[in-house]
Amino acid sequence: MYDRAILHLDLDSFFVSVECLKNSSLLGKPLLIGGTSNRGVVASCSYEARRFGVHSAMPMKMALRLCPQAIILRGDMDSYSKYSGIVTDIIAEDAPVYEKASIDEFYLDLTGMDRHFGCFKWSSELRQKVIKDSGLPISFGLSVNKTVSKIGTSEAKPNGTKYVPNGEEKGFLAPLPVGKIPGVGDQTHKKLNFMGVRTIDTLSQIPIRLLEREFGKPGRTLWEKANAIDPTPIVPYHEQKSMSKERTFVEDTLDVMMMKHLLLDMADKLSFELRLRQTRIYHHRQGPLRRLQYLHQTKKYLLYRQ
Ligand SMILES: [Mg+2]
Repeated sequence: MYDRAILHLDLDSFFVSVECLKNSSLLGKPLLIGGTSNRGVVASCSYEARRFGVHSAMPMKMALRLCPQAIILRGDMDSYSKYSGIVTDIIAEDAPVYEKASIDEFYLDLTGMDRHFGCFKWSSELRQKVIKDSGLPISFGLSVNKTVSKIGTSEAKPNGTKYVPNGEEKGFLAPLPVGKIPGVGDQTHKKLNFMGVRTIDTLSQIPIRLLEREFGKPGRTLWEKANAIDPTPIVPYHEQKSMSKERTFVEDTLDVMMMKHLLLDMADKLSFELRLRQTRIYHHRQGPLRRLQYLHQTKKYLLYRQ
């Protein structure tokens, strides 16, 4: 059996990078994106803000205590989706098989390409293309599996690349802290620290049975990841199958009328988007006649909405 070549690509502080692309005066400044209410958390922050100890998922209040001079932005999901789509299109054009793991993260299976192109060279060219065509910084990790490549990307950031050659995976992981393993959350992290396990090297040497006793079934996966074993395949990306809208309230509410109105409004907007998309599919499949109907219907709907 031949070894796999798995590439992990991740846009650097994606939301922040999009904001800077839209407004270049924000470049190089400490930026926080997220809600400012009591419950607000940091969804994304610039590297300048990270220097003050801020990280994503931190309560906004705490972030502001650490970095009071930071500029706060509410975030704009519509443009993040738009730019995510732009990057996806660039990758889809060149990639043999790819998985979109999140709004700003991709896995590609490049197995078998080495003989012809050289995977690292190919990946570097794709990265340059993304940077040039989207204007957004992106980093990658390349290795034999998803776990090692994802950790490689986090080591490469910001704006860098990491290649872990076949056979060097364990050496690469060994000195890193256990928190670097994807999927190790706060609880697991605390427990491992309590057990005195700080580096991936130490974790990799603990008997599987002991880890299974402490963590249940995930204990085995944890051991495997620490030992650079990850057979998970790339799950090819398919067109979006669902659409949704959501809204988080600043404070809890019992105002049923307000909620009803909001719900209706959201359903209205959503059905508008769904209708647009569906007629677009018709248009692709059935040609100019449908296109005319589509335009007609859209105009009618727009009129109705005004
Ligand atoms: Mg990212």
